[in-house]
Amino acid sequence: MRIVIKLGTSTLTNSTPYLAPPLLVELARQASQLQADGHQVMLVSSGAIAIGRERLGFPQLPKDIPAKQMLAAVGQPRLMALYEQIFGLYGVTVAQILLTRMDLASRRRYLNARNTLIALIEHKVIPIVNENDTVGTEEIRVGDNDNLSALVANLVDANWLILLTDQPGLYTADPRTNPDAQLVAEVSTREISPEIWQAAGGSETGLGTGGMITKLQAADLARRSGAGCIIASGKESNILLRIIEGEKPGTYFSPIATSLESRKRYILSARKAPGLLSVDDGAVQALKRGGSLLPIGMTSVEGTFERGDTVRIANPNGSEIARGIVNYGSRDLARIVRCPSEEIESILGYHFGDEVIHRNDLVLL
Ligand code: GLU
Repeated sequence: MRIVIKLGTSTLTNSTPYLAPPLLVELARQASQLQADGHQVMLVSSGAIAIGRERLGFPQLPKDIPAKQMLAAVGQPRLMALYEQIFGLYGVTVAQILLTRMDLASRRRYLNARNTLIALIEHKVIPIVNENDTVGTEEIRVGDNDNLSALVANLVDANWLILLTDQPGLYTADPRTNPDAQLVAEVSTREISPEIWQAAGGSETGLGTGGMITKLQAADLARRSGAGCIIASGKESNILLRIIEGEKPGTYFSPIATSLESRKRYILSARKAPGLLSVDDGAVQALKRGGSLLPIGMTSVEGTFERGDTVRIANPNGSEIARGIVNYGSRDLARIVRCPSEEIESILGYHFGDEVIHRNDLVLL
């Protein structure tokens, strides 16, 4: 399974102003175990700002973005050094991935980020994702790592998004002030009910940015992209292992679509598909059998488009038979029309894979 685990600042600091490595060691042990069991694991970790702040001796700073960016710039390398050390105990290599909303909004950058993440997990490296705070101005920030983790889960078609926090899950009211507050065990309705949105409103905020509301937004997004999501406490023993074994300690949100369905919906929703690829009969048959589109099956390329754009595919009679997301832009495709995939690299000088359109990025009409 492909698992995205989000660790918040409260987990990294054990809800103190200081970094608290013991809990991290424990979570890294479990994450490494999951990886050894054959799962693909990714972390989304906050903490750069908190660590930067600690490192600089807790300066009084304005709440503006440059101050936070400065703290993140100091803290991020320390955060990574810590992960490198802790995962090293278990013989696991980690990698740093810093993203902004822009990297996820543009299809081309989206594909690049996706391919890098997938290359890492396929090589058994655990990517540790954070927002690229130092360059992230208001317009291009995701703003909180809960939503960022859901975007990452969507990006890589994760099966699980695990949001670890210092609370056992989502409550019907604030448990610190309301003795009747109850843990919500499961959300399985297609829409998250207004009562639950209400319950999540205005929850704690410490050094991290999120609260329960951003966790709920993240859960909502993740389940629409085909992942199961759970909000649970990072402090509970063996929390990650138990979740993957099938326990639901915390608030569980069942997926409401498969990731393939959600991707296909995205492809069909493309506002405009200016590009047109004509293909031969062999390719039509291959596509109908569920195959990918290879350059050898293309007969012509029309329109101007970029890698990551949605294009139309037409059969030899000129009828549109499918739509899909291209791995190559129109200029490159014009150079590899009718070529065997093995020649892509020598013709273009690089390659983004054998397929013009991978079957998972393709919808037959
Ligand atoms: N990117 C921020 C950091 O690493 C945290 C954002 C969040 O907590 O949601 O400090």
